[in-house]
Amino acid sequence: MRWEDENYVKLYTRDTIYWIALSYDAKSLFLQILRKVDRRGEIALGRCGLGGIAVAIGHPEAWPKLEPAFNELLGGNFVVVRDGSVSVVDFQESQRRKKKKYIRSGIGKRLRFRVMKRDGFRCVYCGTTPDLKSLLVDHVVPVAGGGGNEESNLATACFDCNSGKATSAISPQDLGRH
Ligand SMILES: [Zn+2]
Repeated sequence: MRWEDENYVKLYTRDTIYWIALSYDAKSLFLQILRKVDRRGEIALGRCGLGGIAVAIGHPEAWPKLEPAFNELLGGNFVVVRDGSVSVVDFQESQRRKKKKYIRSGIGKRLRFRVMKRDGFRCVYCGTTPDLKSLLVDHVVPVAGGGGNEESNLATACFDCNSGKATSAISPQDLGRH
């Protein structure tokens, strides 16, 4: 995998009770659907009906296996089917929120990638890797506390560690980077 090619490192990262309740197959189908939706969060189904989902994610043969997982997603209101499309619920809303955060933090795509690369694509606080949890780049000393966008003030963190430090700044000595 080339990380430069990935548009989204962070996606729907909150472990809500609804998410936790999904089976492994449903979780994995949802993540694959997210990779294929358009800007409005939709996949047009075409002539195959619901089987069009399997076509969209590149596994047309797998629909019989995917159908129960898809029904779980429908039941949990993760997706809805309307007008010949599957649509991810609140997709645009979630994108807007992400964009806002991005503008506020002002950490450009390239800078973020450099920091992630420097940190070995691991959370500097707990060492987790992006195949286990989504990673983001954030300020060590928050902007509100006078922290800037210099690389020394940026660190790769998983969502959990990042939200844990939201109220208090972590000093660079706490980082555990040796
Ligand atoms: Zn972490």
